[in-house]
Amino acid sequence: MLKEALEQVQQNIRKACERAGRDPSEVTLIAVSKTKPNEVLQEAYDAGVRVFGENKVQELVGKMDSLPDDIQWHMIGHLQRNKVKYIAGRVALIHSVDSFRLAEEINIQAKKRGIIIPILVEVNIGEESSKFGVRAEDTIELVRQIAELDGVSIKGLMTIAPYVVDSEENRPLFHKIKELAIDIHNENIDNVSMGILSMGMTNDYEVAVEEGATMVRVGTGIFGERSYNISH
Ligand SMILES: *Cc1c(COP(=O)(O)O)cnc(C)c1O
Repeated sequence: MLKEALEQVQQNIRKACERAGRDPSEVTLIAVSKTKPNEVLQEAYDAGVRVFGENKVQELVGKMDSLPDDIQWHMIGHLQRNKVKYIAGRVALIHSVDSFRLAEEINIQAKKRGIIIPILVEVNIGEESSKFGVRAEDTIELVRQIAELDGVSIKGLMTIAPYVVDSEENRPLFHKIKELAIDIHNENIDNVSMGILSMGMTNDYEVAVEEGATMVRVGTGIFGERSYNISH
C-alpha cells in the first residue's frame, strides 16, 4: 500500500513537471515520516526512498540511529537553538531557519566541527500568525545577515503554505516565493544560492511543482494520516 501511494506521488510530480515544462530530476521528493514508527520508514526505504524529513530533533536522532546509513535526513520543523548541537553535521539540510540568532547557533556548531552547514531560510508567505518564518519583506535583510556567517551556507528558501481546500489558492503564494528567490539571486550576495525552493505538501505539491518547487515535503500522501498521541 505504501509502495502504491509512493508511486502515485512520484507520478503526480512527473506529470506536474510535464505541465510546467520542467525536468523531473529537478524535483526531490522528501518523505515526511514524522510520528511514523521505524518499521514504516523501513518499508518506505525498501520501496526506494532515501530522503526523509522529520520535524522534531529527538525523533529525528532516534530514527537516524536505527535506520540505514545511506538515508539523507532533512530537518523541516521549527528548531530550538539548544537542540542544534544534536543534528549539526548529521542532516543534509535544515529547512527552517527563520532568525539570525538560530543561524548564529548553527554557525557555532558548524565551526566546532569544522564543517559548513547548508540551510534554507523559512518564509511565512501566507503571513499566518500561527506559522514560523520570516516575512517576505524582511527576507533579503535576514539573508544578508546570515550570509556573513561562514559556517552556514544558504541554499534557498522554504515555506509552509496555509492549509486550503483548493490548492489553486496557494498558487499565487508559491509564485511569490519563486519571485522572491529570483530577487535575492539577482542581489549576488556572497555565500548565498537560491537553487532550492522547498515548498508543497500533500495538499498542494503539484501546484508547488508547477510554480518552481525543487523539493516537496509529502507526508500523508505517502504514509497516510498521522495519529498523534499525547506526547506530540
Ligand atoms: C508535516 C509536515 C509536512 C508534510 O505534511 P503532509 O500534509 O502530511 O504532507 C511538510 N512540511 C512540514 C514542515 C511538516 O511539518
